[in-house]
Amino acid sequence: MTARMLDGTAIAAAIRESLRPEVEAFTRRAGRPPGLGIVLVGHNPASEIYVSGKQKAGTEAGLWVDVHRLPPTASVQDVLALVERLNRSDRHDGILVQDPLPDAMGSDAARRVVDAIDPRKDVDGFHPISVGRLVQNRPTLVPCTPSGVIELLDHAKVAISGAHAVVIGRSDIVGKPMALLMLHRHATVTICHSRTRNLGAVAATADILVAAIGRPAFVTQDLVKPGATVVDVGINRLTSRDDVERLFGRASPRLAAFERRGSLVVGDVHPAVAEVAGALTPVPGGVGPMTIAMLLRNTLKAARGEVTSNE
Ligand code: NAD
Repeated sequence: MTARMLDGTAIAAAIRESLRPEVEAFTRRAGRPPGLGIVLVGHNPASEIYVSGKQKAGTEAGLWVDVHRLPPTASVQDVLALVERLNRSDRHDGILVQDPLPDAMGSDAARRVVDAIDPRKDVDGFHPISVGRLVQNRPTLVPCTPSGVIELLDHAKVAISGAHAVVIGRSDIVGKPMALLMLHRHATVTICHSRTRNLGAVAATADILVAAIGRPAFVTQDLVKPGATVVDVGINRLTSRDDVERLFGRASPRLAAFERRGSLVVGDVHPAVAEVAGALTPVPGGVGPMTIAMLLRNTLKAARGEVTSNE
């Protein structure tokens, strides 16, 4: 069997296109475009790439994307003061602080900063109020990566209700909200993590297997039930030629790509899983573009005030 590839790039492009008239309507009505404030602290190369991708996609969709850069020496107080200013601004509907913050800020910096964001502007969906609402399945801003996965499955007509969904990974930003969203869609959900016993055997019972681990090629063929849908959330950068060759083989175009660039982005799912799975999201071009599309949708939702109700 060769898995059907779930093309996140194409689906995300269609979603972004469908948002444009809605963004235009908001802009006409409000006399200004929906505004997204992004805070970027330091010079993390991966963060720079993520932020420029968000800025480009947002601008193309008609949003006003306002990137605030702070030096790596900035303090938590500097970030909190900026967030406070964006909270008060009536041009910024959404606020996003790009992760990670510099280590020097301390291990609780990210939490303090997220807690300071006005929940109505919390387009990442990480604020405890957003999380609480998600747990209770109330209207809220939902984290972009897991909501992008649901959107991808819906577009691909993968049935979630009644399916056994196994999520590997229990982070606050992917694994936990992913499991909740699957549950709200009536899947039977199992969460696996680094202490799970017999993880392979559990994973191999999944109809839908989501890998959000951060370990290249962790999900091998034996972890996948034949015909299962496999969603690869992982983004891992390989810098060793040997690793790339071992995964993809000597003749693969991926090896040639590695040689051109000196590194290669791969997911958490081994390429040979494509021979077993029924459907599979590629990396790149699967979940990543969906994440950005969901960020734009959340910004529009925040601008329209759709998350202020007490429903
Ligand atoms: P994280 O490091 O916060 O969490 C990883 C999870 O994997 C943990 O819950 C841990 O329990 C689990 N894990 C680690 N080792 C394990 C093992 N040996 N066996 C079983 N479980 C194990 O990472 P995260 O922020 O959730 O991100 C996960 C991956 O998804 C990363 O590669 C990240 O880059 C990627 N990611 C992609 C997107 C996207 O848009 N595509 C967005 C966010 C994160």
